[in-house]
Order: sequence, then structure tokens, then C-alpha cells
Amino acid sequence: MRILLIGLPGAGKGTQAGRLAAHLSIPHISTGDLFREHIDQGTELGQNAHTHIQAGLLVPDEVTIGVFEERLVRPDTERGFLLDGFPRSLAQAHALDGILAGSGTRLDAVLDLEIPEGQVVRRIAGRRLCRQGREHIFHIDFSPPEVAGVCDLCGGELYQREDDREATVRKRLEVYRSETAPVVDHYQAQGLVTTISAHGRVQEVLSRALDAIGQGQTDATGMSS
Ligand code: ADP
Repeated sequence: MRILLIGLPGAGKGTQAGRLAAHLSIPHISTGDLFREHIDQGTELGQNAHTHIQAGLLVPDEVTIGVFEERLVRPDTERGFLLDGFPRSLAQAHALDGILAGSGTRLDAVLDLEIPEGQVVRRIAGRRLCRQGREHIFHIDFSPPEVAGVCDLCGGELYQREDDREATVRKRLEVYRSETAPVVDHYQAQGLVTTISAHGRVQEVLSRALDAIGQGQTDATGMSS
């Protein structure tokens, strides 16, 4: 399956994308993660991306599409993929559609993870990530680790993303409204979008997402992690 997960920052895309991808045995492709890898490795692309990310802005389309294409050509994407954070602008959506059409495929579904804007800042400000596992995500109030600052899953150090500060989050919200909301409209016009409430426990949201792509109920049993 070829699935796109979209939604406001803080809606829980990364958390859900990791679980959905594992459940469906397809790779989880996050342009945010790809940029953070470049930043950690100190590449030129990473340095360029960093200035935009820090400011809460989108990394320019050309750079982002390049990073995405480089990931997409890896053989693990042949059976499908779960996109998280790409496309985030209409130009990126058109590029994606063109790339997929070129290989005779298209997206199967777009899941729009919905939370009220008023909840975004609190969700993001409390978010803590693990230095060792990109899908080990905690929240100081909603899903705190047993020991503050330490990942329950692997013992790695937890940290706060620098673009998760309040002023940057507000900028990211603005950018979502102007640049990314049109992407939802674009796929809505193709009848691909299902809106899913991001309210509630991680497991509940996951069940809704699985239902939306016809993989719910029996498939969802045993997913207690
Ligand atoms: P979130 O979903 O929490 O906003 P991500 O980890 O997906 O965060 O992305 C972090 C930042 O990386 C974004 O705010 C943006 O600056 C940059 N970025 C990620 N994906 C894209 C994209 N498709 N186009 C442009 N910039 C991107």
C-alpha cells in the first residue's frame, strides 16, 4: 500500500506512522527524519535544511523533493510505503504524483490526522524524542517515560527538538495553513482523503487509521504495544 499521513504538527503523525508502517510491513518515510539525519551527519544539505527548520519554515521544494526521491529509489519501497511529512506543499504533491505515475502507481489513501489547533502547542511543547530510536516518542504529561529523560524502550537519552519551542511551533502552524492545507484539498479532489480524529490514546487512533484503510478489526488484534 502507498499511504500518506498528513496533519498539523503535533497531531501524532510520527507516532502513528511508525506503528502503521510496522503493522503493514512497509517502510516509514519521513522527510523530517531524513533532514535530521543529514543535520546529525553535518552534510551541506543538512546545514541548509537546518536554517529553515529552525525558523519553522519549509525546506525549499527542490531540496526536499531530491531527498525524498533518493529515499524512494531504495528497493524496500517496491511493496509500498507510508509517507509522513511529504508532500507538504502543492509543488511537492505534483512532484510525487508525477513520480508515482512514472512507475504506473499512485497513492492508495491519504489519512488526515485531525486535532484542534488549540492543542498543538501543548502537545508539541511536551514532546520528548529518544536519541537512539526515532520512533521512541514520549510526552511529559500524556505518555511520560518511567524515568524522566530516559527512554523506556532502549534506555536512550530523551531530548526536546529545537523547533518544538513555542514561537517556532506557531510559525509551523501558519506554514501548515498556507502551504500544506492545499495538499489536503488536492487529494480530497481525487477522493483519497479520510479524516481521522487524533484524539484519544495512541492505540485508539491507530485502530481508526487501520479501519480507514480496510485493515482494521482482526488485523488490529495483538497490537497492544
Ligand atoms: P512535524 O510533523 O512535527 O512538523 P517533521 O519532523 O515532519 O515535523 O518536520 C520538521 C521540519 O522539517 C519541518 O518543520 C520543516 O522545516 C522540515 N520539513 C519536513 N518535511 C518537509 C517537507 N516535505 N517540505 C519542506 N520541509 C519539510
